Amino acid sequence: MSSHVLHRNSLVQPPRAVAGDGIYIIDANGKRYLDASGGAAVSCLGHSDPDVRAAIIEQVGKLAYAHSGFFSSDPMEELADDLIAHAPAGMEKVYFVSGGSEAVEAALKMARQYFLELGEPDRKFVIARRQSYHGNTLGALSVGGNMWRRRQFEPLLIDASHVSPCYAYRDQQANETAEQYGLRVANELEEAILTLGTGRVAAFVAEPVVGATSGAVAAVPGYFKRIREICDRYGVLLILDEVMCGMGRTGTLHAIEQEGISGDLQTIAKGLGAGYQPIGAVLVSGKIDRAIASGSGFFQHGHTYQGHATACAAALATQRAIRDRDLLANVNIQGENLQNALTAQFANHPYIGDIRGRGLFRGVEFVADRATKEPFDPARKINAKIKKTAFANGLMCYPMGGTIDGQLGDHVLFAPPYIVSDEQ
Ligand code: PLP
Repeated sequence: MSSHVLHRNSLVQPPRAVAGDGIYIIDANGKRYLDASGGAAVSCLGHSDPDVRAAIIEQVGKLAYAHSGFFSSDPMEELADDLIAHAPAGMEKVYFVSGGSEAVEAALKMARQYFLELGEPDRKFVIARRQSYHGNTLGALSVGGNMWRRRQFEPLLIDASHVSPCYAYRDQQANETAEQYGLRVANELEEAILTLGTGRVAAFVAEPVVGATSGAVAAVPGYFKRIREICDRYGVLLILDEVMCGMGRTGTLHAIEQEGISGDLQTIAKGLGAGYQPIGAVLVSGKIDRAIASGSGFFQHGHTYQGHATACAAALATQRAIRDRDLLANVNIQGENLQNALTAQFANHPYIGDIRGRGLFRGVEFVADRATKEPFDPARKINAKIKKTAFANGLMCYPMGGTIDGQLGDHVLFAPPYIVSDEQ
């Protein structure tokens, strides 16, 4: 069948998805796929939620869209109220966008403008971590450390520095405790700030639980507390990217709640609208809002579809559903079940090195040798083969990694909808 769509892979015509039924997607041939990855950790309510559907229909019946340069809207105001009522400490405002990369772009520009408002124009550097992913637009790709995604676009990227991720399975030494390891890698941020020059770094960006490069890798205890201390000591803004790990995915509404700190800016997307509408947002702390409000009064940014009324209505219905149906309890129960089931089946598998994660955000890392943790030769495309075979068998899992430019590991990610049952 020929297609005029430029698909992700020009050589592969994907099946046509025609219907959703709970955690299943059904293609044009009637084949059912168990969505064990929520697409890319998006579909937290499954694919046929009646409440979100009703909210979208109701909103389109009233007003589908009004440009945010002219108007606010009920769904936009109510969603912002709802998000701030349940936000990490210090967050006071919400800046809406249409997805994860846009949220990261907005956060980076807001960090820059914050320092301009404060009269600190030299603060222009951003530090992030290797083995991270923050989106595919050029600014977000610049701070991301996913070499496979970056490599051919390097000439177009802005300058950003990268420090080590907190990746205990790969990096914790035999002679150090988890806490010592966490401090060691967190302290790399301080070294990077001192190298670039205090007063020159605007922000540090990190995913509280790393998704699309490392397969659900949470930091060791104490790591993020130390990161927060270092940012505060040098006046550097902490941008937490919860596009993938946020909105309940790890068992708390925000992944960072489990670390006992909060950021200055926090990006959210995917689980915000559960895939029913494209939407993302930046949670903005009071100090940044006040600096812009009392300075130029205008954040120099904007997209046509930001604060889209129908997208906000869908996201509001999604967030209410997560709360009203107590879905985070199920995320925790089924997350444990998934971890136990994967461990029972694969813990001794010769090519599985690690099974990890939080809530319904679980990663499996493949190795050529369990004892040495040696990864597979990337030419073998282990990830792609696993994804393809699973998909052929009606199972969606999200493949990542592959050894490239010093980055280690093949992984698959499981991120099923929060409504998943024991049997599923
Ligand atoms: N940030 C993180 C942590 C992500 O995992 C992703 C996407 O996977 C993005 C940003 C980019 O989001 P989007 O694909 O919606 O632009």
